[in-house]
Amino acid sequence: MARTYYDTEQYFEQPSEYTLKTNASATVQKARSKGKQLHPVTVTGRKIAKSWWGMAWCENLERYADYESRLERGKRYLRSGTVVDLQIDKGHVQAKVQGRRKSPYKVDIRISPVNEEKCEDIIAACGKRIDSLDALLKGRFPEELKEIFLGADGLFPTPREISFQCSCPDWALMCKHVSAVLYGIAVRFDEDPLLFFELRGIDVDHFVDVTLENSVESMLRNVNVKSSRIISDRNWKKLFG
Ligand SMILES: [Zn+2]
Repeated sequence: MARTYYDTEQYFEQPSEYTLKTNASATVQKARSKGKQLHPVTVTGRKIAKSWWGMAWCENLERYADYESRLERGKRYLRSGTVVDLQIDKGHVQAKVQGRRKSPYKVDIRISPVNEEKCEDIIAACGKRIDSLDALLKGRFPEELKEIFLGADGLFPTPREISFQCSCPDWALMCKHVSAVLYGIAVRFDEDPLLFFELRGIDVDHFVDVTLENSVESMLRNVNVKSSRIISDRNWKKLFG
């Protein structure tokens, strides 16, 4: 009979924080001695993420009942420094997470890219926030864009858009390694906000360019409307003296 994640938890005792930390640091050292540089995720302080977008990422995960109760162990794992490597690419996260055994588990998370229609809606909404876009280009993630990104049609993925895999024996539902990586993504977003766009498959430069172009076009349209009105006023005066 296939065992669920919850069943396996009963069979295996949880590794201690000491074991996890020792194994994690050995893995990083070992990679270094082979000339490979791992990028561990480090959580300092009480909160996992400090920026609003990092925190929003965590809140987004926690508001889905599908993930509830599976996330808590992941937080503990992340805090213990078990995510020894985490790389974010377009729609793809690859990570190594230390567990009880010496070699880390491989976690692979895929997030479907934002579709064109949704992207256009977001671009249209952002067009009204030109100052914010400038900040975005400079690598900051302005709070004024929060409501646009966080809305139901925003940039945060739903569970249906997230798929994952782990090389551990109990990944079928969502293991603590996957959950630790999902939280680890928030820490990476704190360090580099533009990775958020990268993960959602959006070229941020292009995003800002198109938004600016649209805004300029709409501004020009407004100017034309105004000037044609003025002309017609003049014509009217000419007509009736
Ligand atoms: Zn796992």
